[in-house]
Amino acid sequence: MISKSCLVVFSGGQDSTTCLYWAKQQFEKVHAVTFDYGQRHRIELEAARVICELAQVSQVVLPINSFSALGGNSLTDANQEIIGVGKGNLPDSFVPGRNLVFMTLAAAYAWQNDIFDLVTGVCQTDYSGYPDCRLNTMRALEQSISLGMDAKFTIHTPLMHLSKKESILLAREVGAYQALASSHTCYNGQFPPCGTCPACILRAKGFEEAQYPDPLVERGNE
Ligand SMILES: [Zn+2]
Repeated sequence: MISKSCLVVFSGGQDSTTCLYWAKQQFEKVHAVTFDYGQRHRIELEAARVICELAQVSQVVLPINSFSALGGNSLTDANQEIIGVGKGNLPDSFVPGRNLVFMTLAAAYAWQNDIFDLVTGVCQTDYSGYPDCRLNTMRALEQSISLGMDAKFTIHTPLMHLSKKESILLAREVGAYQALASSHTCYNGQFPPCGTCPACILRAKGFEEAQYPDPLVERGNE
């Protein structure tokens, strides 16, 4: 127990749900910040709200409308088809600058509330391919935020080097497994999950490798 407060950047997805429960084990007081950035699927925001309630974590939702105004990616632009690969060989779901902005705004909120530990579920293990999920990006950002706000921030990234399988095992270890039934992953915004989009396929692969059923899929079958 590190014995202080932390702020979890919380999307309502599988990884940030695991991080939320990880943080509950590591810190005395856990807060969550969720960004409403015009994601195509509002089901994601609802998932985040439900899980914070389950975990008994206070949640603030901050609006950012510039990403959907920028468009050009399949997560915020309803006109863009989800095909998989976009500009620069990055996934077409890549929202440029998203994690940079999220972490900076999270730090601003944290600073105002005397919180200097930030937790994020980013992971550089090859499946995502997002450059703003990498450890060197997070280390550089930690330094920028600390300098720019004249405070010593720490960015915790418990999933950084884990495979999907390992993060499911961690979810079980920290008590997040059942909450995953309320998490959201599907790029098509569907519940029960579509099972065919890249996000659903990746999620299913992790559960298969971990040899546990996905509680979200089980809830969908009920
Ligand atoms: Zn799907």
